[in-house]
Amino acid sequence: MVISMKEERDLKGKTFETIDPRTGEVIARVAEGDKEDVDLAVRAARQAFDDGPWPRMTGAARGRIMMKYADLIEEHIEELAALDAIDAGKLFGQGKAVDIPAVANLLRYYAGAADKIHGEVLKMSRELQGYTLREPIGVSGHIIPWNFPSSMFFMMSAPALAAGCTMIVKPAEQTPLSALFYADLANKAGVPAGVLNVITGYGPTAGAAIASHMDVDKVCFTGSTEVGRKIMQAAATSNLKQVSLELGGKSPLLIFDDADVDKAADLALLGIGEICVAGSRVFVQEGIYDEFVKKLKEKAKNWVVGDPFDPRSRQGPQVDKQQFDKILSYIEHGKREGATLLTGGKPIGNKGYFIEPTVFTDVKEDMMIATDEIFGPVMSLMKFETIEEAINKANNTKYGLAAGIVTKNLDVANTVSRSIRAGTIWINCYFAFDRDCSYGGYKMSGFGRHLGLEALHKFLQVKSIFFVRETDKI
Ligand code: ADP
Repeated sequence: MVISMKEERDLKGKTFETIDPRTGEVIARVAEGDKEDVDLAVRAARQAFDDGPWPRMTGAARGRIMMKYADLIEEHIEELAALDAIDAGKLFGQGKAVDIPAVANLLRYYAGAADKIHGEVLKMSRELQGYTLREPIGVSGHIIPWNFPSSMFFMMSAPALAAGCTMIVKPAEQTPLSALFYADLANKAGVPAGVLNVITGYGPTAGAAIASHMDVDKVCFTGSTEVGRKIMQAAATSNLKQVSLELGGKSPLLIFDDADVDKAADLALLGIGEICVAGSRVFVQEGIYDEFVKKLKEKAKNWVVGDPFDPRSRQGPQVDKQQFDKILSYIEHGKREGATLLTGGKPIGNKGYFIEPTVFTDVKEDMMIATDEIFGPVMSLMKFETIEEAINKANNTKYGLAAGIVTKNLDVANTVSRSIRAGTIWINCYFAFDRDCSYGGYKMSGFGRHLGLEALHKFLQVKSIFFVRETDKI
């Protein structure tokens, strides 16, 4: 398979390197978009929204183009999965079998919704009548992270396209490649010029220019809580654009005494890594704690960390040197704070950014490894006795993205899932998603939902139209 990328430049001719995390070597140079480039892209998007066909065509016509877009993505699954593997360290096999097909199906899901956007006719009275329209919000800005470059691109862009918005998408500086490919495919699918604009560049420059732009009507951001705060500030001090944020997490996985320990250990391992919903705090009930620890240790030893193109790999490299160093420093901090390293804790090999799956026991709730989002393969194991204690510990975090529960007891599953303040609860599973089921954060994990019809409504606004009966002779 050969992927050729021509060198792209911004208005000033500046470029930056994107790195292969398997080796630390440069893959390509891409345009370093800045404020002027964002201005140009917003102008194109504004014109496409104010005067172009996209928001004016029927939903069915937009849906047909989106279906074509999905077909083109499917024709290029291998290249796209490979781009995310070399640029982000994502597992190639998973990209090919799961992530990229899911992206095509996400486009189809919203294509099917594009002609089902309705307002309401209100009963009111004979004298004063009214109805509502759901109209596209306008130009939306999408600032996306590096951990799921393809999924995040379409979790924001697919509902925005269906709604009739035009958009500027800024991929993370670590992972710009698949986004450029998606822009090209949008063009080939017949998405009109100016509707979907991709700008590659850095957060504090290109990203900040989107968040503070006076002509962007909505900003959708997924990333760190710290940057999410800046996005809200920029929106507030510019044009009060609408904001939706999906931010960090420190999600709990609660394993009860009646759980199948083998299955629970598999779920716990599945939940760690560069995933915002990672089950990085694992609470195990005391009756099975020792057995669970033993099982997890065995399984972690057989967990293959390696080249994302190797089908045996369960975990690829961390995205870049900065993340790699950050994760290792958290591990050192955990050791210094007195937690016990059950397994892992070290980098693997002498090139690239690979880290062993790392599990700490004897973790106290206030240790940094138990409170901060590490965004890497580091798990903190803790013990609990009662259901109430499990709920309190699970909720003892500023975040509220997700939680997992492993139990066969329906009462426990019900009580705990209703008591945890998080946007997604997984019972006897972890990391399960469906395009029809929305997801997003409670508390400091953000607001606004991805997926499902909730996400479509984020890109629509309601207009109320009233009319008064002109004559009372009728
Ligand atoms: P992480 O810490 O996981 O790398 P970030 O929140 O820093 O995540 O980055 C997520 C996205 O936000 C990236 O596309 C990045 O370029 C962008 N970004 C970073 N800083 C800013 C900023 N000040 N304003 C707007 N976007 C930003």
